[in-house]
Amino acid sequence: MRRVLRKQKSVYALSLTLCLIGIIALLGTLLKTYPQISSSTDPFSTFLSLLWTEKITISQAFEFRLIYLVILGDVMLVSGVVLWLLSRQWLVVPGKTVWYQCPFCKKKWRAVGDKALVHCPYCNQLVHPLIAEK
Ligand SMILES: [Zn+2]
Repeated sequence: MRRVLRKQKSVYALSLTLCLIGIIALLGTLLKTYPQISSSTDPFSTFLSLLWTEKITISQAFEFRLIYLVILGDVMLVSGVVLWLLSRQWLVVPGKTVWYQCPFCKKKWRAVGDKALVHCPYCNQLVHPLIAEK
């Protein structure tokens, strides 16, 4: 039980970190392009073209276009949210046994967790099981 909790906390922390990096990357992009956008008559297309033309130089040898920063930010944000959702699910799981009922053959069986899709052990169909009483 404790191990599950610790694992979950680290995943939660990781997801927050990823979200934070994503937000910083996207904010950085906005800050970098804001002066040109605010003086433009067509902010959206200016923003899009800036993504492909503006470059960020970290050192002489390492520079990249803004678009990569946006992609990086999106990827970080999405994986952060996914991890966060996973870490929430793990909280529900710990060893709870429920009775599933197959909607086709109406047979019941016991299993751990709450899965949305399972193979019925009797008729071997992939089913959305009904949760029967414990
Ligand atoms: Zn069945």
